[in-house]
Amino acid sequence: MKIGIIGGTGFYEAEGDEIEVETRYGKVAAFHFVRGGRDVFFIPRHGRKHIPAHMVNYHANVEAMYLMGVEAIIGINTVGSMRKDINVGSIFIPDDFIDLSGRKSTFFDDQAIHIDMSQPFCPVVRKTLLEEAKDAKEGVYVVTNGPRLETKAEIEMMRNFGHVVGMTLSPEVILAREKGICYASICIVSNHAAGMQESLDIEEIKRVHATRKEDLISIVDRCVERIPEHRGCRCRYAPEKGKL
Ligand SMILES: [Zn+2]
Repeated sequence: MKIGIIGGTGFYEAEGDEIEVETRYGKVAAFHFVRGGRDVFFIPRHGRKHIPAHMVNYHANVEAMYLMGVEAIIGINTVGSMRKDINVGSIFIPDDFIDLSGRKSTFFDDQAIHIDMSQPFCPVVRKTLLEEAKDAKEGVYVVTNGPRLETKAEIEMMRNFGHVVGMTLSPEVILAREKGICYASICIVSNHAAGMQESLDIEEIKRVHATRKEDLISIVDRCVERIPEHRGCRCRYAPEKGKL
């Protein structure tokens, strides 16, 4: 079984063979290696030159996973906490999301296909992540477009319906479902959102990220080996079931 990982710059990049995947949305740089007898494809979400979140070619990245025959994707994201009980440095596994990014989020421009998002993450892949991450927090990930960080008033509003805020989950999670690929996300909480700490310092965010990176990689590694081949979830039927 082929597993995909989409993550920020600095994860897995020294590993395996670099390959280039040609998609109708553009070329994608990926890395291939074997872990626990499984073919793993890593795509650095921001490409090789660190394209900012609002410019990432999400369509090309997910299309590349699909073309490589990947059945399940683990997305690695960095988020800010909007809740006092979700500490900086903790691991967060979203169980739902709200997309405020306004980005184009479909492959289906010529057909009316409305995929079911009542359970936006693959329950099986998500459960595997939760079991391996142990003390992870759960909740709602609010997606903003960026690249600027949020205002205090925006965070005050979003805290009413969300737990963390970030810029990279959507449309990736939606596009994976449209391709019938299982998808779940694991996040590093790198800071508290605006208004909860004095100011937001990118150096501090990078420092927290660096200290948690190894832990996160080992969690993801164990999950890669443990995701069941026969998952019994409904993810792969989503495109067919969504046809009007
Ligand atoms: Zn699934």
